[in-house]
Amino acid sequence: MSNSSQSIEITTNFINGHHSNGQTKTMDVLCPVDGSVLSKVVLSTKDDLNKAVKSAQDAFPAWSALTLKERVGVFYKFRNLLEKNIDELTEIVHLENGKIRSEARAEVLKGIELTEFACSLPQMINDEIQEVSKGVECRTTHMPVGIVASITPFNFPTMVPLWTIPNALALGNCMIVKPSEQTPISALKIAELFKEAGLPDGVLNIVNGDKDIVEAICDHPVIEAVSFVGSTRVAKIVYQRATSNLKRCVALGGAKNHLIVLPDAHVDMTATNVAASMSGCAGQRCMAASAMVAVGQVDHIVERICQEARKIKVGENLGSVISKEAKERIEKYITEAEAEGAKVLVDGRNVSLPGKEGGFYVGTTVLDYVRPEMSIAKEEVFGPVLSIMRTSDIDEAIKIENSSNYGNASSVFTQNGSMANYVMDNVSAGMVGVNIGVPVPREPFSFGGWNESRFGVNDITGKSSISFWTKLKKRTTKWNPEAWTNWMS
Ligand code: NAD
Repeated sequence: MSNSSQSIEITTNFINGHHSNGQTKTMDVLCPVDGSVLSKVVLSTKDDLNKAVKSAQDAFPAWSALTLKERVGVFYKFRNLLEKNIDELTEIVHLENGKIRSEARAEVLKGIELTEFACSLPQMINDEIQEVSKGVECRTTHMPVGIVASITPFNFPTMVPLWTIPNALALGNCMIVKPSEQTPISALKIAELFKEAGLPDGVLNIVNGDKDIVEAICDHPVIEAVSFVGSTRVAKIVYQRATSNLKRCVALGGAKNHLIVLPDAHVDMTATNVAASMSGCAGQRCMAASAMVAVGQVDHIVERICQEARKIKVGENLGSVISKEAKERIEKYITEAEAEGAKVLVDGRNVSLPGKEGGFYVGTTVLDYVRPEMSIAKEEVFGPVLSIMRTSDIDEAIKIENSSNYGNASSVFTQNGSMANYVMDNVSAGMVGVNIGVPVPREPFSFGGWNESRFGVNDITGKSSISFWTKLKKRTTKWNPEAWTNWMS
């Protein structure tokens, strides 16, 4: 989208404060709501990336020389612009991603919260100072890393860019963002709003494209840090490539989140949370409940979950999935699981939305008696599908959860506090919850999974991101020549 939502044509790059068409090819951006062509996105070349890096380099000295407090002044204005433009941003997310408008709006609101966290950084970062020896002081200061990059996925086109942009920029870096080529429009709008907020040209640059440009980012000698969010397959590629080029990297990957349901769980609370977790954003959340481990006799809860799942209707409270390929992949998982003996309690295959027959819709699906060795139990389905596995033993449930190579989120549903703590202590996941379907930590807590859901040391948001986007300078000073001197001072 070059100018406004009415004249959608090319989703350009945004380099040095200006739209830039790139040099060569474009790719269609499809609207998953109805399958129409929404835009054409520029597929950038290495030359385009070089221009963006050069503009970031030119902007860096002045931007990084400002105080943190001066820099976050821009973010207060940007935050207000997000609020002012929330209807347009909501519509863009709805059209390019397919999620329903209320979910798209919630995503923008989360972007506002992330920006507010960046505004609070001057209150959070207290550099340390101590007299370490008579007359000798040590002091640390957080310095920006330099020119950094953020590579983002399709499923949260506003929120995930705002996981990284505000913190990285507020901390003094200049950035190249490479949005998903499936949902590139939101990021361009974000860059336009930053310019309106007064961000100096070149501090934030958008370079669109596909895997070629991601590889070029990982190889670029000037870019010093790379953050990535996407599938585990690509997270591994990016982490290996960026770190082998001696860059710091945090790469968040896919997920297979388990909810463990015990017989004493509150029935309504469990049913509504599980159904909302598996179906929200059409199951295309890295925090979505994808597998449920039912411990003991919980048929009454399974029945209520199915009632809730049946209330969720495409086009009303369930959006589309991202593409025709995604719809086919999800339906194939369901069909294979059924053939292997799973019982389909709620079937979301072969649905379409009247008037939007070209859209990519999958209805909510609940499968019971899934076995841990089935593909649907092990792999990321990324659709509104819940696979229920049965066991009679809590340790067996934890074992099923921990056999996953992922480790993003896990939640337990029970009214027994010590059982809840036992599960939280023993599951191998970075974000755990009790009686909550989507245990997302909110700011200032940081977001990040374990195992193959995250490569690298830091989490991507919150306090933990501060050390990713900065490097510590340790200053030691002595101004009193008469001070006693030994080997330590
Ligand atoms: P993806 O991995 O296909 O794409 C992510 C980014 O990588 C895009 O910008 C894309 O252009 C680029 N890319 C794709 N293939 C590449 C390749 N071979 N080499 C280099 N770059 C490549 O992910 P997606 O389909 O856009 O997003 C969905 C995935 O993201 C899911 O697996 C989901 O779990 C994950 N996700 C994880 C988190 C988290 O916090 N862990 C958050 C959101 C999404």
